Amino acid sequence: MKHVILLSAPYANVLFAPQAALPSLVGHLKKNGHLVEQFDLNIEHFNNFLQGYTVHCLDGVTLSVSKFRELFYELDLDTLNTLFLEIRNAYFDTVFKNKNEVNLSFGMGWEDINIHQLLDNLKDKDALTNTLLNSGAYHYLKEKPPLIGFSISHSRQFAATLFYCKIIKESLNTKIVLGGIYASYLVYFLNENQLRDLFEYCDCIAFKEGETALNLLTEFYLNGSGCLENIPNLCYLSDSGSIVKHTSHHLENVEELAAPDFTDINFDLYLSPERMIPYQASRGCYWGKCAFCDTNKDDRTNYRKKSPKKVIDDLVSIRDASYYSHIHFTDYAIEPNHFTEIVDEMDKCENFNNVKWSCLLRLSSHFNNDNLISKARKNGCELIDVGIETFNVRLLKMIKKGINVKDIEGNLQIFKKNNIKTLVHMLVGLPSQTADDIRKDMEELIRLSDLIDWVDLARFSLSKPTDMYSEPEKYNIICINEKNQEFTHHQDGEKINYSEIKDIEMNEYRPLIDKVFNTNQLLIAYLKDIGTKGGKI
Ligand code: SF4
Repeated sequence: MKHVILLSAPYANVLFAPQAALPSLVGHLKKNGHLVEQFDLNIEHFNNFLQGYTVHCLDGVTLSVSKFRELFYELDLDTLNTLFLEIRNAYFDTVFKNKNEVNLSFGMGWEDINIHQLLDNLKDKDALTNTLLNSGAYHYLKEKPPLIGFSISHSRQFAATLFYCKIIKESLNTKIVLGGIYASYLVYFLNENQLRDLFEYCDCIAFKEGETALNLLTEFYLNGSGCLENIPNLCYLSDSGSIVKHTSHHLENVEELAAPDFTDINFDLYLSPERMIPYQASRGCYWGKCAFCDTNKDDRTNYRKKSPKKVIDDLVSIRDASYYSHIHFTDYAIEPNHFTEIVDEMDKCENFNNVKWSCLLRLSSHFNNDNLISKARKNGCELIDVGIETFNVRLLKMIKKGINVKDIEGNLQIFKKNNIKTLVHMLVGLPSQTADDIRKDMEELIRLSDLIDWVDLARFSLSKPTDMYSEPEKYNIICINEKNQEFTHHQDGEKINYSEIKDIEMNEYRPLIDKVFNTNQLLIAYLKDIGTKGGKI
C-alpha cells in the first residue's frame, strides 16, 4: 500500500508539460521515506477527450495526442494555432456548462460562493468518473492509502477536485488534504461557513508551502505520530467544530528540498513533442513590490534562492532520470545575480549540455551585459519572459514596477543581438491609465517591434491580495464593486471611462498585437521554432 496518492483534477486546461507542484511534493516525500504516486488526472481526462476527436479545421482528421505531435512539425504555425484553439475550446466545453462561473479568482465576490453548488457547473460527471476509474490511480486508491492529496493550482480545478473528493469520501475511509496555490486562497478568503462546507469534502488544507506539512500529515495519518496542532501551514476543522488556521508561515529551506521527481510521469500524454519540465530555482519574489501583484504578500516576499550548484545538480539528476530536453524556470523572476551564478554554473558543468531553457526575468541594468547574455545563450537560454506592463513613466512608478524605460530597450536589444526570443507581458486597464496612455503604449510597442517576438496583453483585474486593493486611494481608485469585480478610478480628478478603455483594448490594442506580433499561442510558436532548429532529443 502506498502512503500517499497525489492527484491533480481536470480543469479544462490543455497542457504541454507537467506542472511543478506534484513532482516537488513527490521528491520531498520520497526523500523522507514515504511511498507515493502522482497522477495528473487533467492530462488523462484530456487524452480521453482527444482520443478519436474529429477535427473540424482539418477536414475531419481524427486526433489523438500522438497524432497532434506528428502534425506539430508538419503544419504551419497558423494552422497549428487554429487546431490548438479548436481542441482547447472543445475540451473546455466537455468539462464545464458555464464559462462565466469557473474563474473564481482571488477573493473578489467570494462571499456569494456556495461550495456545494460549484459541482453543478460540471458537465459530464460520468466522463470525470471514468477518468478516475481508468487511471492508474484507481489501483492504488482501492488499497485505501492513509492519505490522498489534491493539488489545486487554478480556480477552474476547484469544482472537479470537489467532485472527486466526494466520490472518494463516499467509497473509501481515507483522509483527504487539499494543497496548491489556489488552496491557499481558499483559506485566506472563504468565510467560516464556506470553509465548514468545504470540510465536508476534505479533512484539511495545507496552505502556503506544502512540503513539510504534507510529510508530517502523512506520518500522522500513517503511524499516528505527532498531532495536527503541530503541523505548520494547516487549516482544518477541530473536534470541537471550530476552524483552525495555523497562521505562522513555515518557510521551506530551499537548499534542503529534494529535486522534483518526474519518474512516474507519463510524458507521452502531454502535447509537447519535446520533453519539458518546470523547475524552480528560488521561492518568493526578490522584488515583491509590484502594487498590481496578485500573489499573496507572504508568498511574494520571503525570497530564498537555491545555490547555483544545487540548481544544476538537481537539473542533471532529473535529466538522468527523466531525459528532458527543455526546462522552464518557474521562479516569479530570477534575481539578476542569481541568473549570472546559474549561467556560470551551467557553463562550468560538463554534464549540462544539449538542454534548452526559458525563464522569467525583471528587466534591469544588470542584463545590459553582452558577455552575460551571450553566455546564457550558449548554455541553452532560448526564451526570456518579461513583464513590462506599460511604458508610461508615471504608471511604472505608481505600480512600483521598479524598471526604467532605458533598461527596457537596452535589455531587449541585447537579448535580440544574442538571438534569445522575448515574450513581453503588457497590462491594459490599470488604475488611472487613460486612453492616451494606452495609445502611447501601443506606439512604443510598434517602435520596439523588431526587438520583441511575442506580446501577451492582459486586462488588469483588481483582486484582494494586491496592494492596490489594500490602499485603493493611493492608486486613484475611487470605489470597488466586489460583487461585479469592478472598480472606478480617475486621473487628475477625471473619471476614467471603462467602456472607452475596453473599446480601445478590443478594437485597437488586441488587433495591433495580432497583426504586428502574430501572437496566438506563444508556446506553440516557441516550441515550433526550436523544433525546426532540430532541438529534439
Ligand atoms: S509581479 Fe512579479 S516581480 Fe512583481 S512582485 Fe509580483 S512576483 Fe514579483
